[in-house]
Amino acid sequence: MQVAIVSDIHGNRHAFEAVLEDVSRTEARELWCLGDVVGYGADPNDCCALVREHAALCLAGNHDLAVTGELPLDDFSRGAELAARWTQEVLDGHHRDWLATLRPQDAEDGIGLFHASPRDPVWEYVLSALLAELCFDAAPQPLLLIGHSHVALSFVRAEGEPATGRARREGDREALGAARWLVNPGSVGQPRDGDARAAWLMLDTTAGTIEWRRTEYDVAGAAAAIRAARLPDSLAERLQYGQ
Ligand code: ZN
Repeated sequence: MQVAIVSDIHGNRHAFEAVLEDVSRTEARELWCLGDVVGYGADPNDCCALVREHAALCLAGNHDLAVTGELPLDDFSRGAELAARWTQEVLDGHHRDWLATLRPQDAEDGIGLFHASPRDPVWEYVLSALLAELCFDAAPQPLLLIGHSHVALSFVRAEGEPATGRARREGDREALGAARWLVNPGSVGQPRDGDARAAWLMLDTTAGTIEWRRTEYDVAGAAAAIRAARLPDSLAERLQYGQ
């Protein structure tokens, strides 16, 4: 079965709609979301509605948990805190209630799913092979999917070998084989790996393959919506650089 994996949509309707359109042209039977549906972007209600309509499962990210009040806002950077407060004000009650039902980790088809990491599903940024080693030791599944860092990447550990990692570009494809994998699709709504296009991943559970995808979207439209909402200008600015 082909599954489209998305993460870190962050209220960016322009990016998520483009990804959904791209996904609809594939063989994907399901869509899984690894969390952070809201925060930073100007369209949290639309993004919640689209995830609820299209995703078979959705994790809670740290920004989702901030908006529902489950995490204190002083753990966040200034821009993230302002965006979370603004999101709390504009978010419809039924979307907030739905976000409050989500959890930061899950398992599906023998695949470990975590917003951030197996060791700390809410906060840990897994960006080094050393941390990836600890994550492999903390979860039993051969394939672990994570979001949170907004960087498309993978770590792999073959039997008896140390873990190695690399950033991933559009079109990169891997056969999972017998090794263990820790995989991040990158971010739909606020990529931070220097590629401004929305990032996502296609997983084929039957063939045992993964492929990193990118989707062009109306970055200027998303930035204009952030400015119109009077959110911090830096949140609009960074979208065009993918940072
Ligand atoms: Zn995020």
